[in-house]
Amino acid sequence: MRRALIVANWKMYGRREFVADYVRDLSGGLSGSIPADLVICPPAVYLGDLTRHLPAAIEAGAQDCSPDRDDGAYTGEISASMFADMGCRWVIVGHSERRHRLHEDNSLVAAKFAAVLAAGVRPILCLGETAEERASGHAESVVLNQLESVLDTIEIGGLARAVIAYEPVWAIGSGTSATPADAQAMHELLRHAVERRSPRMAKEVRIIYGGSVKPQNAVGFFRLSDVDGALVGGASLNAGMFLEIVYAVGTSRV
Ligand code: PEP
Repeated sequence: MRRALIVANWKMYGRREFVADYVRDLSGGLSGSIPADLVICPPAVYLGDLTRHLPAAIEAGAQDCSPDRDDGAYTGEISASMFADMGCRWVIVGHSERRHRLHEDNSLVAAKFAAVLAAGVRPILCLGETAEERASGHAESVVLNQLESVLDTIEIGGLARAVIAYEPVWAIGSGTSATPADAQAMHELLRHAVERRSPRMAKEVRIIYGGSVKPQNAVGFFRLSDVDGALVGGASLNAGMFLEIVYAVGTSRV
């Protein structure tokens, strides 16, 4: 069985005091063996604070990076290798808030994905359809397109270091998650798309679900055969709730 992965995406929330309190609460709440790999993605400016205090069992991630691999005159940008230098092991790419608010398209997301791999860091590739795309019957084609545009850009072996996050746009921050059946169907579809290129990679790659995951609904997702964890936004801002989601893995994947 693939080991579960739970990712906290703090988005643009938090202050230095919050980081210190959060790490203290998280460390204090961990007990026994942790049933999943854990990644915390704070706003970039707080990565130093986070990594200084984070228990060794938990890794830090960035929420985005530049598509440019080499240093250069790119004001405001941060490269994947700079994140690696800060102790980051992961970078989220293609989050829907960037695809839609900042108009990041598939080719930019693919370039970021490749830049993350080139820096020796691990990409978390977010994919997901809007409510309109789902209502018009295009959810599958949109999501497959988002995946294929990345797979067309990299050597398929690169996927061994990556994670795919299916995050329906309408479920993010809305309080309305996908149904477990819809999530399983989409995860299965994504795994089949990977299988067409590499049966081995299809077995290995973790596909996690994101979109209003809470302690109350987490078990329903973690029981699914093709759901390997969660990307958690709002609920990850509370260390206690995040831990409840983490320990829900232990009760669902037996
Ligand atoms: C996210 O930020 O990727 C996310 C899934 O947010 P939320 O859990 O708040 O829906």
